[in-house]
Amino acid sequence: MAGKSEIVIYGAGMSGLVAAIDLARHGYQVTIHDREDGFGGDKTYNPSTHTTSIDVDRTSEYIGIDLSPVFHPLLRCPFYFHEAAFHPPLEVLDMYTVERGNRPTSLDSLLYAEARKLGVEFRFSSPLRKEDLGKLPENTIIACGLTPSVYEMLEIPYLRWYGWISRGEIGFSNLSWIWIDEVVTEYGYLSSCNNYYFDLLFSKNHIDEKALRKYVEFMARNEGVEHEDWRYVSGAVPLAVPDNPRLFHRGFILCGTISGAMDPFFWFGILGALVTGKVAAMAVYDRSRAVEEFSRFTRGFRRGYRFKNRVWYRIRPHVSWLEWQMRLIGPKRANRLAAFYFSNFREPFNLPGFARLGVC
Ligand SMILES: Cc1cc2nc3c(=O)[nH]c(=O)nc-3n(C[C@H](O)[C@H](O)[C@H](O)COP(=O)(O)OP(=O)(O)OC[C@H]3O[C@@H](n4cnc5c(N)ncnc54)[C@H](O)[C@@H]3O)c2cc1C
Repeated sequence: MAGKSEIVIYGAGMSGLVAAIDLARHGYQVTIHDREDGFGGDKTYNPSTHTTSIDVDRTSEYIGIDLSPVFHPLLRCPFYFHEAAFHPPLEVLDMYTVERGNRPTSLDSLLYAEARKLGVEFRFSSPLRKEDLGKLPENTIIACGLTPSVYEMLEIPYLRWYGWISRGEIGFSNLSWIWIDEVVTEYGYLSSCNNYYFDLLFSKNHIDEKALRKYVEFMARNEGVEHEDWRYVSGAVPLAVPDNPRLFHRGFILCGTISGAMDPFFWFGILGALVTGKVAAMAVYDRSRAVEEFSRFTRGFRRGYRFKNRVWYRIRPHVSWLEWQMRLIGPKRANRLAAFYFSNFREPFNLPGFARLGVC
């Protein structure tokens, strides 16, 4: 068993590293275990690039780590309903790109270097296993992201998703798009950053090759981008029930996506992982404040979850109708409406959704 000032963390992704850094700064001796053979998160997906909504300054201040070197303002992100493009007001939505994985320009590299500097110890190729659960020390933090086997061993409700991914070097940065079509329940999107791209077509249901071809042809026609090396993957998200968010579970402290700190609408998980990494560390040295902070950051989850399931999934199959609405409203008016909405009514989307660290 570890001593009082020793903390064990499983998962050396974003949230695990933020928790480790904060605990090391508070004088704890931290050991992080990860099933991968090195840092950079889950190698099924990483290296990759993500597009997300985040207030970089406030998040940096909250977690005590300057994130500005690795987050880059998004320059362009058309939302396509079939082939009708709508250009949302990115500055109002605080949209950024960020790189994940073990390349020197990634968020993981920045966090890993800081953790190493503070003396955090790493045990790679060391997976969390069901048979070890009963033997783990008090205050063990679980930060295992989107790995279905961990949800299963901890009996955390999850939703299975399926996706086609492609990634690699590309000749542009800080550009994205989102494609909404009937072939998937979610969307296709490309994210790019540091001359690297990550393309994902994902859904709650299996996606056949015909659907992928439709997306590939859409991209070639509308964005002039083609890539061939697609791979089929699957993962878990904590979006199965409206009360998925949980800081404590079966005697463990959870953080990151597995804690439910995810936007139930777009499935953005970056901001939730960063802030709940800090909250998980707080749960070790100031439990009652951590409880308050966790509920502050996740209080929009239930509302976002209900909107997605009760409203959006009913409208979502009618993409031609959405496309028609977009054309009827017109891009300028749609932009003005989006800007007005997100400037004035951001509260329901505090952590989950377009986030500025919630409302204090
Ligand atoms: C394909 C894909 C695309 C995404 N795109 C976006 C996006 O564009 N914008 C956005 O905001 N969010 C996006 N997300 C969500 C976001 O990436 C995640 O929510 C976020 O990375 C989760 O951070 P985390 O700290 O919880 O976990 P991660 O950063 O994923 O880290 C989890 C760590 O746990 C380790 N691990 C897993 N199982 C075990 C085990 N049994 N034992 C030990 N270690 C284990 C993994 O190796 C990994 O290092 C995407 C997710 C995926 C999968």
